[in-house]
Amino acid sequence: MKDAPATPLAPGLYIVATPIGNLEDITLRALRVLRQADCIACEDTRQTHKLLAHFDIDTQTISYHQHNERSRGVELLARLQQGERIALVSDAGLPGISDPGAEVVRLAITAGIEVVPIPGPCAAVTALAAAGLATEEFRFLGFAPARAGERRSFFESARGDRATLVFYEAPHRILATLEDAAAVFGAERQAVLARELTKLHEEFLRGTLHELLATLRTREIQRGEMTLLIAGAPVAAAQASTTQTVSIGARLAELMRSESLDEMAALKRMARERNTSKSALYRELQRERSR
Ligand code: SAM
Repeated sequence: MKDAPATPLAPGLYIVATPIGNLEDITLRALRVLRQADCIACEDTRQTHKLLAHFDIDTQTISYHQHNERSRGVELLARLQQGERIALVSDAGLPGISDPGAEVVRLAITAGIEVVPIPGPCAAVTALAAAGLATEEFRFLGFAPARAGERRSFFESARGDRATLVFYEAPHRILATLEDAAAVFGAERQAVLARELTKLHEEFLRGTLHELLATLRTREIQRGEMTLLIAGAPVAAAQASTTQTVSIGARLAELMRSESLDEMAALKRMARERNTSKSALYRELQRERSR
């Protein structure tokens, strides 16, 4: 490929994706923007200096991370308003995706500054592309909450979702997260754990949640960067989950009417739908009626 003449960089904020492991994944455009920018705002300047040193780039850097996002964002905006070209990077992947970046993007847009995305690696979509799960519809949910109770409720709210679910997770929490996922989504739900994407020890573990847990439990220690994908709910489960948000009385009446069932038969059907016993459902119905 012939070297293109260097296009001058217009003033604006450049959101630059950087590799999530393999340094060859940086784009030519990203390198040009990092070279030509007046300054690079980094999540961790030490981390970015390693990348810049590798590509022989000596652009000035400034820190921009979750603890100074607000104050530094205002400073960056002032520089952008003077016509500077500022590149924003995070430690790896796309800034703003479970990483700092969104705040300065918002500020820049409000101030009428040009915001230019420089696309490249993102762990979530990289994992999705090779996982083998449905890709027509997916939902990126970032990191699941660290506390077990909150994590279960978080999973419960996604139980009936038909889309493939994509999460980031830390290695020291992966077993607990998979255990909660198996309890909420069912141990037989298909899932994929994408580890160390684009790196030497890249690995895809594919199987049911139960199988993934069994494999990881044979390992002494969980390590590496991890993206977890869980298959969307099958149609029946998605419908059951929708009906669970409907009151028992309303669903019972609907079943009796639409399928000409008596109350006992409708209760039996609904117990199957909600994966519970007829007596438990009946008690719940009584409670609902006395409210
Ligand atoms: N902004 C980044 C992106 O676009 O992918 C994500 C930043 S988030 C703070 C970091 C998390 O992304 C890690 O804890 C891990 O869950 C996931 N991740 C990053 N690199 C990865 C890799 N090489 N393989 C698998 N997951 C990765």
